Amino acid sequence: MSVSRAPELIGPRRRGRWMTERYPLAIVGAGPAGLAASALAAGWGLDLALFDEQPAPGGQIYRGIESVPEGRARVLGGEYDRGLALVESMRASGGRYFPESRVWSLEPAPDGLTLGLEQRGRARVVQAERVVLANGAMERPLPFPGWTLPGVMNAGAGQILLKGEGLVPEDGVVIAGCGPLLWLLAWQYLRCGVQVQAILDMAPPSNRLRALPRLPRALLAHHYIAKGLGYERDLKRAIELDDRLAYAHSALGVLYDLQRRGEEADRHHRRRDLRW
Ligand SMILES: Cc1cc2nc3c(=O)[nH]c(=O)nc-3n(C[C@H](O)[C@H](O)[C@H](O)COP(=O)(O)OP(=O)(O)OC[C@H]3O[C@@H](n4cnc5c(N)ncnc54)[C@H](O)[C@@H]3O)c2cc1C
Repeated sequence: MSVSRAPELIGPRRRGRWMTERYPLAIVGAGPAGLAASALAAGWGLDLALFDEQPAPGGQIYRGIESVPEGRARVLGGEYDRGLALVESMRASGGRYFPESRVWSLEPAPDGLTLGLEQRGRARVVQAERVVLANGAMERPLPFPGWTLPGVMNAGAGQILLKGEGLVPEDGVVIAGCGPLLWLLAWQYLRCGVQVQAILDMAPPSNRLRALPRLPRALLAHHYIAKGLGYERDLKRAIELDDRLAYAHSALGVLYDLQRRGEEADRHHRRRDLRW
């Protein structure tokens, strides 16, 4: 996308000329990847700018890590705590960190790249010789009939409410989808005392068989496997999940169930404020 720049947006005026801020390095995203890159590069003496659209560093996994109350941090698990050291190393590194700064364009410039930013409601343009994109991944929501009903939300949104505001569903929850976030959220809800009524895992059990040839390499990261098995064990132990854990062989089955439960949720969509 090409963008024309209004001169008044380019930067501070110095000695009669409009100056654009320049950095040898700009990093987009203050999640674990951007924080680590920032601390490392600043340690090498690079004058860098770290931009993130969120009001505080941490990204998805370490969202709100500097301000989260102790009790809430405890239920999020030991992994969450590790983010604090990462944020502290970024803060101590001397790099410049700009929160609430959304990068909305990136264009080649004669000696590097030009970044277009929206920063706290104002447009800004910055130049950088190099740019590291550490803007993370997105959850892929799957629309189905009823998915916009009150009380139905993405797992990611549920976790953001928990991490950011200490809010959890009041009348129990059904969690559906696939991937580790599903299990992590169910486990975190469990630790908050939320009744996990069912986990609908859309990944067919045959996926485990298909993944078998990759097991030897996966064992190199055995702590992730141990973590996942730990979530499953705790959930099964706590809520006798066996009969409620549905491995869905077809998406349709899951969606039908979700729709039905979504309608139920519509009638009971209150949320509990943990007041942490
Ligand atoms: C909703 C959600 C919740 C998750 N929760 C967990 C969890 O609890 N535990 C876990 O292990 N994994 C979780 N994940 C997976 C997670 O993506 C990774 O574990 C980890 O956070 C990835 O780190 P990252 O630094 O690559 O990206 P992220 O942590 O996603 O950080 C990217 C950062 O870039 C910023 N950003 C993106 N686009 C722009 C832009 N245009 N301009 C400025 N800033 C921008 C974002 O605000 C974000 O702060 C979650 C993923 C999602 C989508």
